[in-house]
Amino acid sequence: MKEKPNSLYGLSLDEIGQTLGLSRRYQAKQIHQWLIKGVTSFDEMTNLSKAERQRLTELMGSAVSSKVVDKQLDRDSGAAKLGIATFDGSVIEAVLLTDKEDRKTACLSSQVGCAMGCSFCRTGTMGLVRDLQAFEIIEQFVHLRRIAPDTSHIVFMGMGEPMANFAEVVQAIKYLHDPQGFNIGFPRITISTCGLVPGILKLAEINLPVKLAVSLVTADNGLRTHLMPVNKAYPLDDLKTALLRYQHVAGKRFTLEYVMLSGQNTDSDSARRLAQFIRGMDVMVNLIPWNPAAELDWQTPDAKEIAAFTRELDLLGVPYTRRFSRGRSVNGACGQLAAANPQ
Ligand code: SAH
Ligand code: SF4
Repeated sequence: MKEKPNSLYGLSLDEIGQTLGLSRRYQAKQIHQWLIKGVTSFDEMTNLSKAERQRLTELMGSAVSSKVVDKQLDRDSGAAKLGIATFDGSVIEAVLLTDKEDRKTACLSSQVGCAMGCSFCRTGTMGLVRDLQAFEIIEQFVHLRRIAPDTSHIVFMGMGEPMANFAEVVQAIKYLHDPQGFNIGFPRITISTCGLVPGILKLAEINLPVKLAVSLVTADNGLRTHLMPVNKAYPLDDLKTALLRYQHVAGKRFTLEYVMLSGQNTDSDSARRLAQFIRGMDVMVNLIPWNPAAELDWQTPDAKEIAAFTRELDLLGVPYTRRFSRGRSVNGACGQLAAANPQ
């Protein structure tokens, strides 16, 4: 049985009423409105009577199960990284990214650690501690929104593999989407996966119109197996078959995340393989220069190496962008997330 700690996030109005022993539905509505504003202390819910605020505080303390224990801001890039302690003492990380158009994106974790073991990823070195529950995913967004109330987009590119915690991630997404609640449109939410084929197929099947990103990293099957153990179970051929199916059903363009590792996947042969892999699919390749992590032995390509690679991609007509390289100074860019956790 899952432990159910104190959180009102993720609950329907009826469930809020039941949990708090409210006699009227409008009371649950009032509290829900506070929750969506990010107010989690009953004391601050000023349209409740003083006695009621006190009763609720005594009943459950506050409306959230987690607490911000670390906050690092990078004024130049507008990035912020939060360390968030969960009810059982794990620490997860959530990052706020601001792009050139000043669009704010919450980068959320789906698990404490990750079982996938990609060799270039800090989270991968932690192993999996546990899955996060839906309310813990939602609460990360709540904590980030306190820093930037205009956060409008969500990516599941923090710690963990969202497709390995599918049900809770989907539940959180539905809550975050609720037009009576946070009202984040599905197309503003991106699930990023290392390539878990069953998850990709399931996403196509349930018709949840979120965006999909797949961490391809290389289109060389042998190298991919070396870098990403998931490729043993779901090699590139299977991945492509699943992506074609996804595109056929969902009818949408998706992103391939391509972490550039110096001397590994940036030569002309790599570009050619990538061009071949994307044939027949409507994709955007997102180039991410590898973010260094002290304990990992890869190199970030320099500007010259990246320029040579993108030149090859241009010649081959591979569509690409470079989105988030921000947040590096707070160690909060994608793939740098690892927190000290009791194993
Ligand atoms: N598990 C999911 C989502 C979390 S990882 C996935 O793998 O897609 C989020 C993104 O960060 C992935 O695209 C991953 O390839 C990338 N990433 C991991 N480590 C990185 C690093 N050190 N530098 C840059 N990107 C990294
Ligand atoms: Fe897990 Fe994604 Fe990191 Fe791979 S890249 S170890 S799947 S978080």
